[in-house]
Amino acid sequence: MDREFENILIKEIVRQNESIVLIASENYASKSVRTAQGSIFTNKYAEGYPGKRYYGGCEYVDQIEILAIQRAKDLFGAEHVNVQPHSGAQANMAVYSALFDSKSVIMSLPLDQGGHLTHGSKVNFSGNLYNFEFYNVDRETEQIDYEALEKHAQTVNPQAILSGFTAYPREIDFERIKSICKKIDCMMIVDMAHISGLVAAKLHSDCVKYADVVTSTTHKTLRGPRGGIILSKNIYAKSIDKAVFPNIQGGPMMHTIGAKAVAFAEASTNEFVNYQKLVISNAKLLGKLLSAEGLRIVTGDTDTHMILVDVTPFNLTGKIAEEKLAEVGLIVNRNTIPYDSNPPRVASGIRIGTPAISTRGMNAEAISIIVDCIIGILKEKEESKLIKNKVKELANKFPIDLK
Ligand SMILES: *Cc1c(COP(=O)(O)O)cnc(C)c1O
Repeated sequence: MDREFENILIKEIVRQNESIVLIASENYASKSVRTAQGSIFTNKYAEGYPGKRYYGGCEYVDQIEILAIQRAKDLFGAEHVNVQPHSGAQANMAVYSALFDSKSVIMSLPLDQGGHLTHGSKVNFSGNLYNFEFYNVDRETEQIDYEALEKHAQTVNPQAILSGFTAYPREIDFERIKSICKKIDCMMIVDMAHISGLVAAKLHSDCVKYADVVTSTTHKTLRGPRGGIILSKNIYAKSIDKAVFPNIQGGPMMHTIGAKAVAFAEASTNEFVNYQKLVISNAKLLGKLLSAEGLRIVTGDTDTHMILVDVTPFNLTGKIAEEKLAEVGLIVNRNTIPYDSNPPRVASGIRIGTPAISTRGMNAEAISIIVDCIIGILKEKEESKLIKNKVKELANKFPIDLK
């Protein structure tokens, strides 16, 4: 192995082993997934789609892509699947380019209330190329007010309503959103990047059934390789496929598509359902214990793999809390809370997710130790060195297969 590369890799292996990842969008892909992603399929050009490639020698990559597509269809009950997007952002870009033009109005939740950069932010292509009209979460409940959304949508008359978020801890009522879309005759688009593992395990209301088009990443709760997918009704198949290739991408990453196929099979097992149940129960417990210590849990609870924690009751900002926690090996990210008075780089909250620690097998006992460590460092109850050792000790008890 390249010496310089290996030196850095070894440090990262130690870092991943010794820290406790509470970032809601991270996970540990299995060895089977990583083996597929590290395979010789990386050597192959395969512009086009199975049976319609622009290169010779595609007989086996065709089989790989067909396998990935079939498994994703079975897992999510989708009519059409495109497994080629390099990432979640690319999946969204492809969908917008397939369905919208510069005049199209799309309703979405803004970044500072839990939406994603690609949902119309001005620093992103989406906000520059398309016309986004933002809906909001309710000031009191900090949740989507579907009545208000319906009224708002009736006045805006959008081409599509986009839901599915990056920092929203509650279950989304996709059936209700569908009924709104039907009433005003607009498309329903869902970006299930964060919750696709929960949807696959049927522990979250199903968006694939209701939406015209669904995009996702494959590396968050779904626990596959870093990448994206698009699921849609058959009538959009042609335009979406053309949008992915040749419009926005060139050759697909066949090694990653192979790894997606492996991950879809893993996600269709009972073991995976049990894993997702643990993810949710860990998140619920984390929220309960932190709120008992005086922190405020945004919306009061969670139904998913994440909680949003308002750290202002401790006179902290999200930035400071994130930095303090990182010092002892607890990795979270700062996050705005709804109607935040602090700018995003400072923020009043932190986002805490349980997908990664649950993959490690951590359960209620580990959660209570994590909460002690979080409170210990945020309240400066104990020397940070001592807390850092506790974190390391806990991490070592739940090794990750990283080789
Ligand atoms: C993470 C995320 C994405 C983007 O995924 P990348 O692979 O980082 O491009 C898109 N949408 C939502 C809702 C996300 O949470």
